[in-house]
Amino acid sequence: MAVSSNLSSSAGVNHIPPQFGQADASMPRSVLFCRSTLQCGHFILAGIPRGICHCNPRPAPMQAGTGTAVAHSCKAACMIAGMTNRLIRPRRLRRNSILRDLLADHSLGTCDFVLPVFVRAGEGIRHPILSMPGQYQYSPDVLLEELSEWASMGLRSVLLFGVVDPGEKDEEGSHAHDPDNAVCSTLRMVKRAGLELLLMTDLCYCEYTSHGHCGPLAGAEKAGRRRARGGKSADAANPPTVDNDATIHRLAQQAVIHSQAGADVVAPSGMMDHAVGTIREALDEANFTDRAIMSYSVKYASSYYGPFREAAESPPQFGDRKSYQMDFRRTAAEAVREANIDVAEGADIVMVKPGMPYLDVLSRVSASVPVPTAVYQVSGEYAMLKSAAAAGWIEEKPCVLEAMHAFKRAGASFIISYYTMEMIEWLNA
Ligand SMILES: [Zn+2]
Repeated sequence: MAVSSNLSSSAGVNHIPPQFGQADASMPRSVLFCRSTLQCGHFILAGIPRGICHCNPRPAPMQAGTGTAVAHSCKAACMIAGMTNRLIRPRRLRRNSILRDLLADHSLGTCDFVLPVFVRAGEGIRHPILSMPGQYQYSPDVLLEELSEWASMGLRSVLLFGVVDPGEKDEEGSHAHDPDNAVCSTLRMVKRAGLELLLMTDLCYCEYTSHGHCGPLAGAEKAGRRRARGGKSADAANPPTVDNDATIHRLAQQAVIHSQAGADVVAPSGMMDHAVGTIREALDEANFTDRAIMSYSVKYASSYYGPFREAAESPPQFGDRKSYQMDFRRTAAEAVREANIDVAEGADIVMVKPGMPYLDVLSRVSASVPVPTAVYQVSGEYAMLKSAAAAGWIEEKPCVLEAMHAFKRAGASFIISYYTMEMIEWLNA
């Protein structure tokens, strides 16, 4: 039988016995193959009673069988385990909590979290969001009280979203530019109160437009929308969509208005091409060179946003957002491209949204850009964890902690989450 002659050097060890080696297409069927999901192709000769492949998160027993002999550079651990000379035992470093803490590669702190909050005009409002237990729409006065208390508990950063009464909405989302709207009022109130909070604001129009899309509609598509309302005559090749270039100039105005009111970081969320560059230029022209842009660079057209749309009262009144938000059927290469475009235009922070279903994307993006990468654990993720915990199906705190560590492990610099206050409480306990 052929056994790879360069096995020892490729594995970086020199004590692999000759009967262990890489699979070879010409092998007889009497060898034992690793049958694990990785199909790593590791094998040991028949006659050795037990073999364990450690190439996987869970060691997989090697079994007799044909398997697919995959050319693969073996790891020493796989080759040695199952032998009489059991040098490598990864469990040694998990033996007690001190060792585990010592070796943890990442940790969570209270400053790693940003709390998204919803604010609407009025007074004394604390309106529960049914699909997001524990989350509310607040009027600026009530939100100021809450923020004051949360800051004293350790909250460092918030991301403000405006909620608008239907009577204030129009085709262009004009109310977003009212310097006295709920978001701007809250910014001024928090700054005046001297709270030590980093104030981030969402820049978009879906909360402000009568049609619920993220900017004014493209002129030609308005007709399409009328046809869509009319039913079957809608043009499938030209669905109504947002006017990109009109929107980015409006976003730039919104960014300046928010900065004038006290925003420290503005966060364009509409996935409009060249929004970041246009906003940067406008901020610099208005002498806000020190205000940072956190771009929702990688935002998928996700069904996990459902509860948010109740919270922000912003569902699209027709169609969907697939002509501007990203298609999750494409590879992470598109995400990396989007993020790099934003970085080139001046984004100080890029974001991946949603979180948990897109950890692969988060990992790729964070490894590819020279700026911090944020992740947004979205409303649907929060609602699932909350509802499963309420039903007694999962234990909430350990599951949430596990999710947060997954974001960190995948490369998130910080996490935007509705669990922020619970995380602060848990981390401070
Ligand atoms: Zn939007």
